[in-house]
Amino acid sequence: MSDKRVKTASDAALKIAVLDDEEHVRDAIASTLEHLGHEVVLCEDFPTLARALEGRVDVTMLDLRMPRVDGLEVIRRIATLATRPALVLLSGMDERVRRGAQRLAAEHGVVVLGALSKPFRLAALERLLRRVAPTERAPTRAPPPTLQAAALRAAIAGDELRVHYQPQVELATGRVVGLEALARWEHPTIGPISPGVFVPFAEDAGLIEALSDWVFRRAMEDIVWCASRGLALRLSLNCSVHSLKNPAFAARLDALIGETGCAYSQLALEVTETALVGSEPLPLEVLTRLAMRDVTMSIDDFGTGYANLEQLDRMPFGELKIDRRFAARALVDEHTRIIAENSVELAHRLGLHVVVEGVEDARVWAWARRTGSELGQGYFIARPMPRESVPAWVAAWARRVDDELDARAATPETARGPPRAQRPGGDARPGGSPAGRPAPLVNMNFKTCTLLLFATTEPT
Ligand code: C2E
Ligand code: MG
Ligand code: MG
Repeated sequence: MSDKRVKTASDAALKIAVLDDEEHVRDAIASTLEHLGHEVVLCEDFPTLARALEGRVDVTMLDLRMPRVDGLEVIRRIATLATRPALVLLSGMDERVRRGAQRLAAEHGVVVLGALSKPFRLAALERLLRRVAPTERAPTRAPPPTLQAAALRAAIAGDELRVHYQPQVELATGRVVGLEALARWEHPTIGPISPGVFVPFAEDAGLIEALSDWVFRRAMEDIVWCASRGLALRLSLNCSVHSLKNPAFAARLDALIGETGCAYSQLALEVTETALVGSEPLPLEVLTRLAMRDVTMSIDDFGTGYANLEQLDRMPFGELKIDRRFAARALVDEHTRIIAENSVELAHRLGLHVVVEGVEDARVWAWARRTGSELGQGYFIARPMPRESVPAWVAAWARRVDDELDARAATPETARGPPRAQRPGGDARPGGSPAGRPAPLVNMNFKTCTLLLFATTEPT
């Protein structure tokens, strides 16, 4: 690496493939990226890109207008690959074409960081690349490992699974409100397997009930453990739609509540939007019964499916979680922003409260607050962590809030980022932490929250 290289905002070099048919454009982009300290793979056509994608690639910069296979075709082909890097679209075309391409990518499950018109400004490119959390995305992009039902069954029985917790905080005050339980599996030979892989596998293998039972029990025990340390927190559990269709589900939940001492009113059950608008409607009876017991029913990943809120309003939901990809798009695409902000408003009018997922940086944090959403969750606040790290994180979060307040009071014009020492444990991986990023501009008006936070962190 030459001395002239500038570190990226996230301080982590990315591997970036550039697909553009014009050699001088490829070369210009390559030198810009290398200047930023990234590793570049230049591709003149799709076959070259496909070969590059057999290895690790974090981002592909893609020219939309190319002879033979155009950018749209490339997006469709990328969607079929085992590894799908995030995209930066390059074009000199009008806004509507770029938006169409972005939607096409989203429909194929390909993440688009944003679009740049050629020629673009260095700052604009840097801003888009800052949205990548390479170390976090790598495991989910790995080709799905060959799983066997017996291995998962053994993992459930043999304590190979773990539950990590990601905090949810009140956006207006910073108060820590709850934790979302996220399953983790460290396979003895394959290594860590993403829940994005093993949860659908468990559903297909008929093991989802066993998996959910294990996760729910452990998470309920852990939330009771937190309460014993003075942290009265809500627990959000991801619930497979298979479970909700099982008439025995409510009875099993009753049993777990009885055994662990967790209260129904502490629970939120998240069901993904796509599951809710699937072919068979969910049994209203099960949902209503749970809502009657004071469980908050939550629509997860809103914005990834095609549900409209009126459709969802027929079911007894109390919470809407704006999907992180939807939130990320809202920051770069005017139309998505309008739709997202209107969704928040409509949700409020329908009596739901709103959680913004994927609060990855200060910009999403600021946007989430502007929308009037109640809660935020994401790496900017904390990465998922084991239960043991929760009390220390809550205390550190309170200090972070406090520090930012102090700094703001001392130098009102100076923006400051979260303290660099802030590194929650668990899923936190070096290089991907927002703490390592340069001073984001945050306007946290947190005076009241500091008190609240300290009030909840004192052990009893
Ligand atoms: P989810 O319920 O939407 O959970 C949020 C996912 O987004 C988590 O991924 C979390 O690590 C990730 N995340 C949180 N903040 C950020 C951020 O700022 N940026 C980015 N890029 N990602 C963020 P994870 O743990 O890999 O879980 C993936 C999905 O697997 C979950 O999505 C959930 O649908 C499912 N899942 C996880 N655990 C369970 C479980 O116990 N049961 C069921 N049925 N599903 C589960
Ligand atoms: Mg969830
Ligand atoms: Mg979600």
